[in-house]
Amino acid sequence: MKDKPTITFRLGDDFYDKLDAFTDRFLKDGLELFAKEFASIDAFRQRALDDPDDRADASFRRNPIEMYLLEAVYYRVMEQVNREAFNRAKDTVLILPDCMSLMMDRCKRERTPHGKICMRCVPNCQINKIMQIADRYHLEGYFSKRALTEQLANIKKDKPSLAVIGISCILTLASGMRSAKEAGVPSRGVFLNFTGCEHWADHPFPTETAVDRVQAILEEKYGLPDSTS
Ligand code: SF4
Repeated sequence: MKDKPTITFRLGDDFYDKLDAFTDRFLKDGLELFAKEFASIDAFRQRALDDPDDRADASFRRNPIEMYLLEAVYYRVMEQVNREAFNRAKDTVLILPDCMSLMMDRCKRERTPHGKICMRCVPNCQINKIMQIADRYHLEGYFSKRALTEQLANIKKDKPSLAVIGISCILTLASGMRSAKEAGVPSRGVFLNFTGCEHWADHPFPTETAVDRVQAILEEKYGLPDSTS
């Protein structure tokens, strides 16, 4: 006898009413809670909407504030869902954003088959600081490629039991984690503290992240670092 098919979810008549009520509550509470952090988004978006330039990133720049909240929560949920698999994977790679390099156009990064790597040209660059932490765990770090799924799939060929830590802005971290999922790589991540790249600034400037959060993720997974490295 054939097994009955398993139904994963079944929507009742009141599903959309409940979803509407939940979404309204989520947006109201979330936008109130993060009012300080998101204070400049509406004004930025209005300028982007008024900008007559047909720039390629126009739609990205015009994201409404609700999408920032949604992407932030999406990231957090994925972190929780991925945590166990992330900690179980033997190797971890760091994927870093270009916009964090302190020397910007004069950054000395060098190309490798898996992506560009930091050459540690200045001590106070946050990428350099993060790579020094990575060194203590004998981990590799690469600048993010546009084709992230492909980049991670290639790294995975050398390291089949792979997890990834990504650093990115609120609107791109969760999508990076979705790309990692496509490559079969469990991810965690840390946000940039603010935006500074050409999507957001007429005169780009280096961004920063919470380096201690990167360290905490690694400590949770591997324990205290090797002090001899
Ligand atoms: S320390 Fe690394 S990431 Fe920072 S500017 Fe130099 S090469 Fe680029």
